[in-house]
Amino acid sequence: MTETNPTLSFEVFPPNSQVGVDNLTDTLDQLKGLNPSFISVTASNHKLNYEETTINLAKYVKDNLHCHTMVHMPAAYVTKTEVRSILNRLEKMNIHQVLALRGDIVEGYVPEKDFKYASDLTQFIKQEKPDFTVSGACYPEVHPDSKNRIDDIKHLKNKVDSGCDQLITQLFYDNEQFYRFQEECAIADINVPILAGIMPIVNRKQALHVIENCAARLPKKFINILDKYKDNPVSLKEAGIAYAVDQIVDLVTNDVSGVHLYTMNKADTAKHIFKNTASLFHLDGVAE
Ligand code: FAD
Repeated sequence: MTETNPTLSFEVFPPNSQVGVDNLTDTLDQLKGLNPSFISVTASNHKLNYEETTINLAKYVKDNLHCHTMVHMPAAYVTKTEVRSILNRLEKMNIHQVLALRGDIVEGYVPEKDFKYASDLTQFIKQEKPDFTVSGACYPEVHPDSKNRIDDIKHLKNKVDSGCDQLITQLFYDNEQFYRFQEECAIADINVPILAGIMPIVNRKQALHVIENCAARLPKKFINILDKYKDNPVSLKEAGIAYAVDQIVDLVTNDVSGVHLYTMNKADTAKHIFKNTASLFHLDGVAE
């Protein structure tokens, strides 16, 4: 069996304010030199200036950080013609990695008909640009629209068969949920690399948002951190980062294919985690 090193990648999002833009530029400058496998750029799922937000940020990452760049592409509200034009633009920019998504269906907005599921977009991209790498989203704790785990895994198998080269998980805080999911994928003959999505908790507001919006199981150890340091933001941040490092060490020890870090556009968090885990990924970048 050939052993390959696990990958470490980062996710950033296009800010919606000038302060956010300045902060992000600073963040990206600080991430320079860490040599992540790739940096992915998120997208709004409802056609809000994809070109000016996601594509522009992806271009900045590509041109200034000189690392592989992946764009997220939610498809429910776009047409084949629009996707074709975006793919051509990406190709010209030398960006060949797409995270193909359906995106959330927004109440009151009727989706377009071209891409009902992410698998439809995956298939379309592979037909249009066979040399593009297409990733897909997956949910160790089941996608909220799914009736049950079995259906979710069957649909995931279909998505991988439609051309996904790798999967990236929704965030989770209990590694056991991830290991169970990996086993279910193996049983279903889903054999592409699965990158584990890790989001360090760095403040209480963000923690409450995650608890409200995400179905992730929160282990007692994690809840204890939130309770104990609820009035101490500095300790909460340190403990949140330490928790994420602990998760990552366990994942790599258990031969995860890769870790995808939701940076929340915070350079210091990403650098801190990088410093504490770089050797596990055999990375020689420098966090200053
Ligand atoms: P799909 O894979 O299409 O699945 C959606 C639901 O449909 C699932 O319940 C699935 O089981 C079911 N399904 C799939 N195929 C079938 C079928 N043939 N028949 C019946 N049911 C089926 N959202 C954004 O808007 N922007 C982002 O940048 C973004 N980035 C993300 C990054 C990651 C790593 C993850 C995990 C999610 C991200 N999302 C993003 C959220 C994502 O768009 C939502 O979770 C969305 O609701 C589902 O998208 P999907 O691509 O997983 O959909």
